[in-house]
Amino acid sequence: MGNSDAITLEILRRITEVMRENAEELTRLDSAIGDGDHGTNMARGFNAVLPKVEAMAGQPPAALLKTTATTLISTVGGAAGPLYGTAFLRAATALDGKNDIDERDVLAAFDAALEGIKARGKASPGEKTMVDALTPAVDALRAAVEQGLDLPTALDHAAAAARTGMEATIPMLATKGRASYLGERSIGHQDPGATSSYLIVQAIADVVRE
Ligand code: ADP
Ligand code: MG
Ligand code: MG
Repeated sequence: MGNSDAITLEILRRITEVMRENAEELTRLDSAIGDGDHGTNMARGFNAVLPKVEAMAGQPPAALLKTTATTLISTVGGAAGPLYGTAFLRAATALDGKNDIDERDVLAAFDAALEGIKARGKASPGEKTMVDALTPAVDALRAAVEQGLDLPTALDHAAAAARTGMEATIPMLATKGRASYLGERSIGHQDPGATSSYLIVQAIADVVRE
């Protein structure tokens, strides 16, 4: 992918836009099984990220992602801040020194991001968290890359899998994070973090497709 730095910046712009547009919906989901702040947390985080990365135009993807990570960690707060911060930091490390990112690099970055979230949050699939959207997304991305599909198509598969994973959180019993305090009452609600994770994967796929 030529222009990987410009595409990375465009992805961060799109994610910011999508978090702003979906802040109310994410907060509504978090009101049902959490403390009703996930949308404002994510919008606040990316609103802080955007001006910083806009000022870094021309710097390599890893530098943009590292700034994204540190900014999310210092502005999002709650559970999601450190988790997404770790994800972007691990992705940055996976892409360190790369200016021309290919399918395998994107897969390595997604894989590292998910492993970072799992290490930080100690969540496994099936616990009703962002891991439930990201695990199928990374699996689908890996399968598509191994099949030799092009990057836009591979990311479309990842986004579709993330959406299915997000929807699959509805009947799950939450055993991590605030939603776990509700026990059985967490069943029947879509997880806010799985929803923001799906939105991020979809935003990446949309930008790469264009
Ligand atoms: P808080 O719960 O601190 O208010 P947010 O509302 O911003 O934080 O984020 C909540 C989301 O974080 C949940 O919907 C869930 O997807 C995710 N989450 C919470 N705890 C964990 C964990 N241990 N591992 C992975 N994801 C988690
Ligand atoms: Mg919350
Ligand atoms: Mg909170």
